[in-house]
Amino acid sequence: MARSVLVTGGNRGIGLAIARAFEAAGDKVAVTHRGSGAPEGLFGVQCDVTDPDQVAAAFDEVEAAHGRVEVLVANAGITDDTLLLRMSEEQFGRVVDANLAGSYRVAKRAASGMLRNRFGRIIFISSVVGLSGSPGQVNYAASKAGMVGMARSIARELGSRKITANVVAPGYVTTDMTDALPEDRKKEILAQIPAGRLGETADIANAVRFLASDEAGYINGAVLPVDGGMGMGH
Ligand code: NDP
Repeated sequence: MARSVLVTGGNRGIGLAIARAFEAAGDKVAVTHRGSGAPEGLFGVQCDVTDPDQVAAAFDEVEAAHGRVEVLVANAGITDDTLLLRMSEEQFGRVVDANLAGSYRVAKRAASGMLRNRFGRIIFISSVVGLSGSPGQVNYAASKAGMVGMARSIARELGSRKITANVVAPGYVTTDMTDALPEDRKKEILAQIPAGRLGETADIANAVRFLASDEAGYINGAVLPVDGGMGMGH
């Protein structure tokens, strides 16, 4: 059955790979973007997840085109790295607002439709560093760890209505976000990955599609690491 799927930050990187995977499976896929427009063949809505009004408007548009969102992938995210003693209030707040509060905003809006449908799949894209920590990423790691508590609370609130909320925790994946890392940091990271390679966006998309499937209906509040063994299951 074709589902209505919304992927935040689905205009590029991991989000785009996730959107394409659902599209290839025949689902009705919408992605958010912040002005770049939607990649070819995908339904795009402009939405900055830090703005509740934009979130509401984006959901209205997606619902008008595809019906209520049945699968939400909260993927939009940013980094703004620096060591704790140098990290400003603004740097901390901005990352938590985009990654964690942004996920809360879209999950809340999606959940109202899912409750009416008595079906839903919410998948949060966290990170291995949310559970293992990472120097220079106090803001980012806190935002990603927060997703675990959020997903598990949603699972407890809505689990009886056939709504699941799970977390995918990718390791380091080749995208614009990791391209920005210095070469020596990339080497250090590679040495910690038993698989001996960085992740591909498709590795993450495969896990997300599984958690959204009918077969995964009894998996709720889980954290699924997709990191080549880097976090050893956390
Ligand atoms: P990219 O930097 O390639 O893409 C980030 C995406 O998030 C873009 O689509 C961007 O939109 C969107 N975005 C950022 N802020 C907002 C906002 N306020 N409102 C709406 N959209 C926003 O990142 P990746 O594809 O690498 O990462 C995707 C997710 O996966 C992130 O949550 C990231 O933390 C997580 N992740 C990534 C890992 C990696 O190694 N790459 C590892 C672990 C987790 P725009 O194009 O408008 O900027």
